[in-house]
Amino acid sequence: MHIDFFMEIDEELVRCRPCGYVMKESELNGGVCPACGLPHNVFEPYRERVSANRLFILSLDIHPIAIHLSQTFVGLIPLLIMFHYVFPGYREQMIHSVIDFSIFMLPLSLILSTISGIVDGLTRFKTLKTPLLVSKIYYSIAIMIFSFAQWFTSTPGEYDLITLALSGVSLFCAVKLGLMGKKLLDVILPGTYQIRKKKKAKPAPRPVVPIPKAESLDD
Ligand SMILES: [Zn+2]
Repeated sequence: MHIDFFMEIDEELVRCRPCGYVMKESELNGGVCPACGLPHNVFEPYRERVSANRLFILSLDIHPIAIHLSQTFVGLIPLLIMFHYVFPGYREQMIHSVIDFSIFMLPLSLILSTISGIVDGLTRFKTLKTPLLVSKIYYSIAIMIFSFAQWFTSTPGEYDLITLALSGVSLFCAVKLGLMGKKLLDVILPGTYQIRKKKKAKPAPRPVVPIPKAESLDD
């Protein structure tokens, strides 16, 4: 459910029942669904169940953007190392520079991805302890370790099998993370996100009102 953040809250929303597309009622105006093309009579009134500020944070797409950055590096490293093995002399200097740069940048981009992932997870689910997020955290820690190991063990210009293996397992973790993340893109818990839960003051115990006995009522 991707809704334009600038959609005003009081605006009447409608949802296409067959495909789930949400839009302003005023924009539908008797036309067809922009997503699936079905006529306006398949639409039903819709109420947004997520607060505007949470939708705004997600609409910035910080996590998907950060991820694309690290995906570029994590994919380039094993690919170019294998290329270097097969064609050792071809554009050697350029290939080596790109590999070295990617090995240098991968851990940094992963830090960015991790921070944005934490923000994204908290915004969506208000906790990081959901089963899928816990798995994502484990894979993130693993890819971080492998990428830093690559950083410290690789020698520029010489790419041994250890570097190739480390880049391979990093890529495996990235693919696993990507597949898990894809499932989470369209899920979100309803309500407003409170950064810090205020401890609710315990309500004073209600005085117990004695139920008058039937006999006393009769008096
Ligand atoms: Zn539709």
